[in-house]
Amino acid sequence: MVQKIFADQRQTGRLDLEAIETFVRESMHRAGAGALSHLLQVDPPAQASLVCRCGHSARYKEQRRKPMLTVVGRVEYERPYYVCSHCHHAPNPADAALGVAGEEFSPGVRRMMAVVGSEAAFDVGREQLELLAGLHVSTKSVERQAQRIGAEIRELEQLEIQRSVQLELPIPIGPPIPVLYVEIDGTGVPVVRKETAGRTGKVEGQPSHTREVKLGCVFTSVGVDAQNHPIRDEGSTTYTGAIETAEEFGRRIYREAFQRGWSRARLKVILGDGAIWIWHLAAQQFPGAILIVDFYHASEHIHELSRLLLPADAEARRHWVGVAMYLLNNGEIESLVTILRHLLAQHPALAEKLENEVQYFERNAEKMRYPEFRARGLFVGSGVIEAGCKTVIGSRLKQSGMFWTVKGANQIIALRCCRLSGRFEDFWEARAA
Ligand SMILES: [Zn+2]
Repeated sequence: MVQKIFADQRQTGRLDLEAIETFVRESMHRAGAGALSHLLQVDPPAQASLVCRCGHSARYKEQRRKPMLTVVGRVEYERPYYVCSHCHHAPNPADAALGVAGEEFSPGVRRMMAVVGSEAAFDVGREQLELLAGLHVSTKSVERQAQRIGAEIRELEQLEIQRSVQLELPIPIGPPIPVLYVEIDGTGVPVVRKETAGRTGKVEGQPSHTREVKLGCVFTSVGVDAQNHPIRDEGSTTYTGAIETAEEFGRRIYREAFQRGWSRARLKVILGDGAIWIWHLAAQQFPGAILIVDFYHASEHIHELSRLLLPADAEARRHWVGVAMYLLNNGEIESLVTILRHLLAQHPALAEKLENEVQYFERNAEKMRYPEFRARGLFVGSGVIEAGCKTVIGSRLKQSGMFWTVKGANQIIALRCCRLSGRFEDFWEARAA
């Protein structure tokens, strides 16, 4: 290899540095793998048996080789092999001590697979491992490892959710938090056909091809600026989400808020769009919180309605929107509802739509007192969770040609939320311990 590189240099006058560095890396990996194989070697045992998990004794049979892919490439080492004659289990203390019982990949490689698999499509992850780490693995292995680690994160989450339901979690201590926000939203993820069987889609009579991920984020603000606009504490945002029922998600987001210091917050704010499940959940899990409907979502209702009411007259439409937005901006929702009720008589064709809008504004009136919220220096838009739906979910799970199982999607969502919340390193260390 080296001779060829230098022969090429003599011919062309140019030294191919990339070929050399790649060659050197491979050589160092090979040397490292040799050393590691030697280090991991376990000699035949002094005693001929050990206690099996069934309580009987497992007898030493022979030395067996274990191949494994590590961050320096493929290693192979020998360690004692025992078999229990009672239950046929083969306990392997040497592998167990390394945390690789039944594994074909070392912890370092598994972490890499989880990281690339959470960031991009699994085949892209495979390419990245080859280019960046010089490791050759299959696309399927990247998928399997990323999903297994996502599944482990989910199991831990479920344990903590269970403990928080039973009020067993210790109250996290720390200084008081001026304002703690919880924002909630839903976003569709394309799924394989079997996951939507029997469910009605958005278009009547047609099955849906997506399932809704419920996503929540929690963040704090660090006061207000000179104009009394709130300032978000950038690094404070954590995420949690899954394809699950509103009830299950309620427990999930409660645990997240609790862990983030809900009980120490002076002001507690829930922000969301108009979705009924969000406010039902907020009433159940977060009694006493300040509830705010995203201002831009409410504005969109006004703009959409204006297009239906005055489709042809742009000038009249602008005027109408001006009046309605003035009322919304000032939190005068009752006046807005009065206007909508008057329109009901004039537009019989739009009766159903108008009735829905009346209900939407009536139902959410207390969550639309925007002047009051602004005066307290609070956010009135749920931009953080909308961005979260794109960065946490959309960019990874909604690429063209992707169709997920609910289980697979939830595992990758758990992994992404963990990483984007800055918790992956802690999770991995705790897991190794
Ligand atoms: Zn046994």
